[in-house]
Amino acid sequence: MMIYKNVSLKKYNTFGLDYKADCMIHLENEQEAIEFFNGNVVWNKPFLVLGSGSNILFTSNFKGTILYPEISGIKIEDKDLNKGEVIVSAGAGINWDDFVAWTVDNGFGGLENLSLIPGKVGATPVQNIGAYGVEVKDQIVSVRTLIVNDGSIRVFENNECEFGYRNSIFKRREKGRYLVTRVYYRLAINPQMNLIYDSLKEEVNKIGTETLQNTRQAVINIRRNKLPDPEIIGNAGSFFKNPVVNKSVAGSLKNRYPDLPVYPDQEGYIKLASGWLIDRCGWKGKRRGDAGVHEKQALVLVNYGKATGKEILDLSEEIKESVRDKFGIDLEREVEVVGAI
Ligand SMILES: Cc1cc2nc3c(=O)[nH]c(=O)nc-3n(C[C@H](O)[C@H](O)[C@H](O)COP(=O)(O)OP(=O)(O)OC[C@H]3O[C@@H](n4cnc5c(N)ncnc54)[C@H](O)[C@@H]3O)c2cc1C
Repeated sequence: MMIYKNVSLKKYNTFGLDYKADCMIHLENEQEAIEFFNGNVVWNKPFLVLGSGSNILFTSNFKGTILYPEISGIKIEDKDLNKGEVIVSAGAGINWDDFVAWTVDNGFGGLENLSLIPGKVGATPVQNIGAYGVEVKDQIVSVRTLIVNDGSIRVFENNECEFGYRNSIFKRREKGRYLVTRVYYRLAINPQMNLIYDSLKEEVNKIGTETLQNTRQAVINIRRNKLPDPEIIGNAGSFFKNPVVNKSVAGSLKNRYPDLPVYPDQEGYIKLASGWLIDRCGWKGKRRGDAGVHEKQALVLVNYGKATGKEILDLSEEIKESVRDKFGIDLEREVEVVGAI
């Protein structure tokens, strides 16, 4: 366990914001995390568990302790040739895309559409990450956690995680109560590719046959082309969730805006594209100082260098207001704000 004081968070958040945390504790394995929660370590409250900070907007210094799990290790837990599946577990501190690359190299299917999503394994059940028609909840078997009150272990089976769109029990009802240490995934030994997204299928076919490797490569190509690389320009991916509205609201909007993209959601509901709504309000490429809206993707807010968290948050509020005024739709943040609002 390594304890650091007065730490710059610049390299711990993908917006590249230079706030400080009073204390940061790197936890290398589950035992160290148990010791921490058992009360053997002196630390400043409150605390925050941090992965890569790729879904977080800090708006001030963090007056407390950041817990940084570095738990490693990928393990094949079980192989069932009759069912054609394998159960693989991965430590919370592993870089997500390194893990996806490992699954693809081993011929295990199910996660390839989630290639290149920034972040750590530990955050994937918290966020229920998703892309190109796949959500990680479909592959998660269980999530091993520590209860922060006393360091005891609790394993959540998939149906206990209350997964929703970029949501889970760990983000909602039980937020801050658990530290994820390992995640167990069910993967296919003879996988079928999921290419329901036309753009993905086209890219795969450009590369070659419909294999795991080619699907991963196609996802990487599309993402590199479409999204800003946080190493070059600070951002946290989609800033807002895509709103889900009932059919009558979607119908009347479609009458007013015939080119409005609509996607079927659960019975009676339609998903709209936040990026389209924001773009239609004229925000693409706009800047407020160093806080801006990405020029290719209106859903991504960026830090051109010296923006503060508060400036990015203020810009996001301006965007929300204009979408509300024009379309009557309330956008909900996907990015989590940590600090003063
Ligand atoms: C360029 C870019 C593209 C992106 N594209 C996508 C995309 O296509 N799909 C998508 O779903 N997301 C996307 N994201 C968002 C982000 O990558 C995911 O939300 C990711 O899962 C966050 O991982 P992280 O490790 O950075 O978590 P953090 O941002 O550090 O934390 C996110 C939340 O999880 C909690 N948390 C993290 N680790 C643990 C743990 N071990 N135990 C308990 N709680 C924990 C944190 O406290 C926080 O509440 C994108 C982000 C960027 C920058």
